[in-house]
Amino acid sequence: MKKNILLLGGSSEAFELANEMHNHPEIKLISSLAGRTSLPRKPKGSFRVGGFGGVTGLLAYLRDQNIDALVDATHPFANTISHNAAKAAEQSGLPRLRICRPAWKKTKADNWIEVSNPAAAAQCLTPDQSPVFLTIGRLELAAFLTRTELTFLTRAIEPPKTTDPAGRSEEAWPENFSFIYGKGPFDFNEELNLIRSHGIRAIVSKNSGSTVAFAKIEVARKLNLPVIMINRPKPPSGITVSSVPEAIAWLEQL
Ligand code: NAP
Repeated sequence: MKKNILLLGGSSEAFELANEMHNHPEIKLISSLAGRTSLPRKPKGSFRVGGFGGVTGLLAYLRDQNIDALVDATHPFANTISHNAAKAAEQSGLPRLRICRPAWKKTKADNWIEVSNPAAAAQCLTPDQSPVFLTIGRLELAAFLTRTELTFLTRAIEPPKTTDPAGRSEEAWPENFSFIYGKGPFDFNEELNLIRSHGIRAIVSKNSGSTVAFAKIEVARKLNLPVIMINRPKPPSGITVSSVPEAIAWLEQL
């Protein structure tokens, strides 16, 4: 009988792992996506979409689906689900692995202002840093609404929705916000053109560690632009690997 593994996804590592493990003779992965984007990339194999209903719902799912282990390959900033996964694994006695790519490291050539959350990023922006390139996705933009004197070029995968925490669609955002849409990988020269053509004077980014989102950081380095870098939230403790091959090795020794 194959082992059933719940793979909490939403990252490129989760997508790669599901594709690599498809047709594995001893392991069946069930990918789980939160359902934030309307057209997510569908990994190979079984998958489900939508929240579980907190730790209690996740525990029920693990039991009902006869899950043998949990792999948390969510984005480094998806903190609630990671902590829920840690609690549910502990309470059910199931093994749990976290895959988390390394954070970007500041070099001498970088001009980073490091903060711990979007609200702190919004507070520390200064008027001379406007227009600001805001690259934190669409769900946590509300923190920047108070900065009415700044203009923001905001990039997200898809337009803001009334169901988002800020509760407004694109048309309902104030005029100092303009929106562009795209999903990486982003190319260095395209990022350079975009940043230059909009006269961007600062970038707000999460330290996702993603290679596909790194070009804007390299452009900031080249142009000596400040980057308001939002550091990662504290992850749950437990076994963590940084790559898909390491996760496969962990799964195969279960
Ligand atoms: P979050 O704050 O940690 O999670 C909020 C709630 O969404 C969770 O409590 C859970 O609902 C549900 N959820 C999250 N990930 C899920 C998954 N893989 N499968 C099923 N339910 C899930 O997460 P988030 O920051 O909103 O991110 C949502 C998803 O987008 C994550 O899967 C993450 O990998 C991906 N993502 C996040 C970011 C980011 O910057 N945060 C960036 C890129 C991709 P219940 O409590 O009802 O179970």
